[in-house]
Amino acid sequence: MRAYENLMLHARDTAALKQVLGRLGWDQETVMPRGAAPQRAEEMAALDRVLHARKVDPQVADWLEAADPADAEEVAQLHQIRREFDRATKVPADLSAELTRVTSLSQGIWAEARANDDFNAFAPTFSEVLSLRRQEAAALAGGGDDLYDALLDDYEPGETSESLAAMFAAMRPRLVALRERILGSGKAMPRLSGCFDEAVQMQLTEAAARAFGYDFDRGRLDKAVHPFSSGQGLDSRITTRTSPHDPLGCFYSTIHEVGHGCYEQNVRRDFLLTPIGEGVSMGVHESQSRIYENQLGRGRAFTGWLYERCRDSFGDMGLADAEAFHAAVNAVDSGFIRTEADEVHYNLHILLRFDLERALIRGELEVDDLEAAWNDRFEADFGVAVDKASNGVLQDVHWPVGLFGYFPTYTLGNVYAGCLFEALKAGVPEWESGLARGDAGAATGWLREAVQQHGSLYHPREVIERATGRPVSVEPLLAYLEEKFGALYDL
Ligand code: ZN
Repeated sequence: MRAYENLMLHARDTAALKQVLGRLGWDQETVMPRGAAPQRAEEMAALDRVLHARKVDPQVADWLEAADPADAEEVAQLHQIRREFDRATKVPADLSAELTRVTSLSQGIWAEARANDDFNAFAPTFSEVLSLRRQEAAALAGGGDDLYDALLDDYEPGETSESLAAMFAAMRPRLVALRERILGSGKAMPRLSGCFDEAVQMQLTEAAARAFGYDFDRGRLDKAVHPFSSGQGLDSRITTRTSPHDPLGCFYSTIHEVGHGCYEQNVRRDFLLTPIGEGVSMGVHESQSRIYENQLGRGRAFTGWLYERCRDSFGDMGLADAEAFHAAVNAVDSGFIRTEADEVHYNLHILLRFDLERALIRGELEVDDLEAAWNDRFEADFGVAVDKASNGVLQDVHWPVGLFGYFPTYTLGNVYAGCLFEALKAGVPEWESGLARGDAGAATGWLREAVQQHGSLYHPREVIERATGRPVSVEPLLAYLEEKFGALYDL
């Protein structure tokens, strides 16, 4: 048998075991009995050790050495296997185990500190997490690359802190200017009022998921505290949340996760359980979730369809008409919380985190100074003083569990979504008429063909550039935001 075929047999079992581990994680966040937590941690750690041993198996190195790929698809499979092997072998096993242990414990300590708005209670644990991640980054960088880039590479292969810093610097002045014009307009957007039955929200949100093409035969929709998506291929699940006063939070969390879920459901079937059988990067993943949620889901055509369904179920919601509903869906606010931010503020939240986490990893900012640095920067960017740690530095789970280098992929995803939307509008003139009827098929069919089906066959930027036929640029996103919010706020 060819070395390549041996490698693929090995990789297929590894991919299957990863799916099992992911399913345990999904179960933990949705239906697992609370008392099972310590046992589940053991179960997941055991499977994690099996996976790690497979990743660093010396036989993989031999096969990689001997494999000669026959075509571009095999080159892509080998690229992913080599990438994973290199990363897994660079990090010492005891450091890897210690990271798993500390980051699983830190989540609980962070949750308690957040509930008490007490950053100092979390600071010692956070110092430990940060120190371990710095060690890991140093092992991955091998004395060469920037430490931050070594971590970033896990989420967004091909990007560097330099490439992202340049992209973000190009966005910032226009985002800040747009924000100031909106807030200076004095225009107040209508708000939904009333109490919204949560079971009805789930019925409507399921209809919205179907409108966007999510396949319930190969997926399911459940509730979770923090919505997420999980799994690949024939079992790609999503979650959402409900609140009696905020049905929009439910609908748009769902549509966002549907974007992630559809990406995974639509990868070519012959890539199933292979190294290229999943979304290629966090940035490209987020481009799908964000274009479903924002450019398509918060556009006037779809909000019109959603308004009619909401009005039939909930009455007038305190709103005059579909225009008022559309305005309410797109209201701009300088709120504290990233996950609740509007399209204009969202990227400013990410730019703040990107700058602070680079400074943390490079040793230019210490944990003891982080809260003050966060609060100063937030007030400078958002014009509001942070009132408590849960509205500030403790709001996100990413840093507490050691995910440094992850945040910038959200804004990268927004930039990619901007590029894709421009190409979609040019290529699919009927994209909007379908959405007005609750059928996103014309738009999502284009995304499936142009992006989703390829899985990890191409490098992240290459996927976007092949889909759009032009280099990635921040221009389409900024032009879209300026046009949309200019009209909404009469600027
Ligand atoms: Zn997402």
